[in-house]
Amino acid sequence: MGAPGPVAPLDRPPPPQQPKSAGCGSGSCGCASNASKSSAPAPAPPSAAASPAVPKQVPPPSAFGKWWKKRFGPKKLPGSGIPARKVIRFLVKARVVSQALFLGIFLWFLFATAFRGSFSAEAGKAIRMPLPVEAFLLADPFVAAMTFLSTHTVYRGLAWSLVILALTLLFGRVFCGWICPFGTLHHFFGWIFPSRYLKGNKRVESNKTKGWQRGKFYMMWGFLGAAAAGSAIGGLFDPICVAVRAIGLGVVPALQYLGIRGATVAADSNVRAVQNASDGAQDFFSQTVWTANQGYFHQTWFIVFALIAILFMNRIIPRFWCRALCPLGSFLGVLSRFAIFGMEKDHAKCTDCNLCLVQCQGADSPQGGVKHRQDECFVCFNCEAACPEDVIKFKFLPNRKSEIVKPDLQRRTLLASTAAGAAAIPAMRIANWPDRAYSEKVIRPPGSVDEREFLERCIRCAECMKVCPNNALHPAFFEAGLEGLWTPILVPRIGYCEFSCVLCGQVCPTGAIQKIDEKQKMGIGQKPISIGTAMYDQGRCLPWAMATPCIVCEEFCPTSPKAIWAEDVEVPKREAHYEAGGEHAKMTTIKVQRPHVDPSLCIGCGACEKVCPIVDKPAVYVTSAGETRSKTNVILLENTSYTS
Ligand code: SF4
Ligand code: SF4
Ligand code: SF4
Repeated sequence: MGAPGPVAPLDRPPPPQQPKSAGCGSGSCGCASNASKSSAPAPAPPSAAASPAVPKQVPPPSAFGKWWKKRFGPKKLPGSGIPARKVIRFLVKARVVSQALFLGIFLWFLFATAFRGSFSAEAGKAIRMPLPVEAFLLADPFVAAMTFLSTHTVYRGLAWSLVILALTLLFGRVFCGWICPFGTLHHFFGWIFPSRYLKGNKRVESNKTKGWQRGKFYMMWGFLGAAAAGSAIGGLFDPICVAVRAIGLGVVPALQYLGIRGATVAADSNVRAVQNASDGAQDFFSQTVWTANQGYFHQTWFIVFALIAILFMNRIIPRFWCRALCPLGSFLGVLSRFAIFGMEKDHAKCTDCNLCLVQCQGADSPQGGVKHRQDECFVCFNCEAACPEDVIKFKFLPNRKSEIVKPDLQRRTLLASTAAGAAAIPAMRIANWPDRAYSEKVIRPPGSVDEREFLERCIRCAECMKVCPNNALHPAFFEAGLEGLWTPILVPRIGYCEFSCVLCGQVCPTGAIQKIDEKQKMGIGQKPISIGTAMYDQGRCLPWAMATPCIVCEEFCPTSPKAIWAEDVEVPKREAHYEAGGEHAKMTTIKVQRPHVDPSLCIGCGACEKVCPIVDKPAVYVTSAGETRSKTNVILLENTSYTS
């Protein structure tokens, strides 16, 4: 895909008009009659009787044919009309294919980040993701750099990011132009919904390099400073994390909702063909895109709103996200200074037609008379393909005189941004110290490392939330403090942690949730992993407060032996009606089973909270106290040792 169509060249006379052929009317079909007309005066039209050989009529192209030719056919260049090199024209098309392919793979992996079976049907079978669904995150060099700075180790899977680093050292920001699914989404959005006002000179102006583009570099250094101070909070702005989070937690559930609504309308239509088509579509989507239950993620309104806002910005500034905000793009931009591939320009030949600028994706000054900015260039080749004067050439080991290879950042601002990022972390922790200020709502997924290390590793990518089969994991809003924004927490009232499931650890790309197996999770031959402890609110519990039999929580407790046990008691109960002529309701005695929790057996999965029949605010609830990962977030029993 290219940017919206080229504008007329600035300050240049229009190209001379070719005389139109009288034969077929197109002037470009190349038929025999046209060829003869170019060198001889037109003969009188032969009569049908004199010449029976009637020239074959060329059918007019279809609407699709016209669109295809306009979009992808050879372009007639104005000015000197020197066509771009064949290899460049091929590379522009190859880039479009590559972008579509990587976006497709990204979406395929994202849709596949779901478990669509049933745990009871698969009992005894280890459940694993059949695809490397976290691959794009593992190949993300900004994630690797951040987690390296925050943990001083490289999580093994993140070694894949070396591939992208190597490509950048060879070709520059080729990831941005050819691979990045989020960049492609913006490119596609800008192409399909171009602004009516962003044409001609306005488009040229908007595509010129702007000073504010430097802001993303300062922001990237700020996030690296924060990582050095012990937090991977930069994941909030990493483009792959943003894409997984916003599409996985917002767009897919919204589309699933609309799909189900559409199926209801189709079912009510009483038209057999519509119903069959709707059933077929539902079957297809439920096996490929939808999750087993309608997904719902609390507080995602802001995530979706942010996605809509940045997509909309493409109508004002093409690829706004990439030019203004992206920390991964900035990181690759800094490294692209070492690239051995780049642009060389012959400024003397430039006629200032600005066609290269109109097509430029990165706002990296491809036009003559100014130096090209390698750190902003997406290597899309649009500029060389558009240039009619043979000014621009991409080549290995270019003459660097026409290029600026590194971002021109002010050293003081750079240091200040890095220091501000580093200072922000203790500032946030003063208000919410990770291993002292425990929140009962911060129940982390099973296998999570302790809170301090969790914040060093978690990049807020939402893979764990997307894969959770019970919709148990949700992005935190401020439950874990400002620093914990959009990290995963378990909300048992919405979904509980499945006893034999270990999927969140399987897909976590940074080791914030460790890859545990079923034996560790369920405690086969060892102590099970606990993520919290269930507590009873006896004022709301039916057997405790209302003399009403209920033992649902005990039935659903998955541990063996059960962490919830029932005490048989006889309690007084008041009849619902008054005795005839009496002043008081009749009293009887009934047997109930009062539930208790054994904290040494409770794993905090939240199944009891999920099924409690007190619908608005359950009588049994799980808090993070007693979680295995923490030595200090404990329940202070008599024999508790804080040090072991
Ligand atoms: S700038 Fe960022 S979002 Fe844009 S293409 Fe590059 S990495 Fe992707
Ligand atoms: S929270 Fe529990 S149920 Fe959800 S993915 Fe993790 S292990 Fe599975
Ligand atoms: S814990 Fe969840 S959100 Fe955090 S890095 Fe792992 S998968 Fe991503």
